[in-house]
Amino acid sequence: MSEKRIDKKRIPLSVPNLKGRELEYVTEAVRTEWVSTAGPYITDFERQIADYVKVPEAAACQSGTAGLHLALRVLGVKPGDEVIVPTLTFIAAVNPVRYLGADPVFMDCDDTLTMDPKKLRAFCETECDFQNGILTDRQSGKRVSAIVVVHIFGNLADMEAVIDIASRYHLKVLEDATEALGSYYLSGRYQGKYAGTVGDLGVYSFNGNKIITTGGGGMIVSQDPELVKRCRFLSTQAKKDIVYFVHEEIGYNYRMTNLQAALGLAQLEQLEGFIRVKQENYDAYQEEKIPLLPFRSDIRSNHWFYSYLAKDRDGLIRFLDEHGVQSRPVWQLIHTLRPYLKNRCFQIEKADWYYDRIVNLPCSTSLSREEVTQVAALIRQFEMRQ
Ligand SMILES: *Cc1c(COP(=O)(O)O)cnc(C)c1O
Repeated sequence: MSEKRIDKKRIPLSVPNLKGRELEYVTEAVRTEWVSTAGPYITDFERQIADYVKVPEAAACQSGTAGLHLALRVLGVKPGDEVIVPTLTFIAAVNPVRYLGADPVFMDCDDTLTMDPKKLRAFCETECDFQNGILTDRQSGKRVSAIVVVHIFGNLADMEAVIDIASRYHLKVLEDATEALGSYYLSGRYQGKYAGTVGDLGVYSFNGNKIITTGGGGMIVSQDPELVKRCRFLSTQAKKDIVYFVHEEIGYNYRMTNLQAALGLAQLEQLEGFIRVKQENYDAYQEEKIPLLPFRSDIRSNHWFYSYLAKDRDGLIRFLDEHGVQSRPVWQLIHTLRPYLKNRCFQIEKADWYYDRIVNLPCSTSLSREEVTQVAALIRQFEMRQ
């Protein structure tokens, strides 16, 4: 990994960009010896993220995965429940369902790569019974309690449709916005609303490959401050009394550290600049005759990841690798992975189609125009040989 990073000729898929005030803030955290889960940067970072996405409250945690775990628990997902999830996603969007002893039901995507609301509705209507405010999966007899929507690659799901279905069937909605910090709706009912702020709770990730990074980290947001405070409470071992250490519930050690938050604040200062570069490089690929999957036209997308539809996915990835360019297929569909083979799937078709074709191309914010030209030329060269 480090060898590849030093080798100037290799073009990585997505790497951090730490050329702002990261060193200054982290140094300050070390100098003041506030390095752990207390310190001024944590609350600063929470406030600044909350202000940026226009919500009253945000809770910083150790990772996006930890955030999703806390959020599902706070939304009331119980052992034996079912939770509707996408199959085309990173596995961290699904594992927390299992952490809570519940079972995922896998849903297909539409052409935005996010959950297909028509199929979501069809599942609730045709496969479930709705009585006394409870949706029950007829096949398993289990209560369906929540939906996890993932805003894949910085695109946004059709939250109007999702929220309508969720309200109709009394389902909680968790937005996995780990890839979509900065994306927002330009029109419609949620005009001006950021990814993660429409559902009951939303979660961002600051893992190394995300649009901004804290090394590892996450943030939970909501329009309802009480839900966020409850997540924060559980993230700090559910400590009721800070002097006598009274705990009346089982919590977690999931709080972000001041060191991570120092990095996060420096990164957040650059977020809008990063989004601009992502957008420019996305446009540059197309100018170089490399068509990329579009983002919805009614949103401002953060353009986090670029998807190219290849005729020979694995051949192209190998060819690019041989020429010093890192690319990747989309994640193997979660319903085909060993831990989830027995779980229920509903009409999965499009996800298979996209899985066979998508190649994610280099998209780091440090990617230069010349590098885009270079990658594009390689792709054209490969496609011509076909
Ligand atoms: C990155 C990511 C996560 C998990 O975030 P971590 O901070 O790495 O735990 C969850 N869901 C999706 C879709 C992701 O891309």
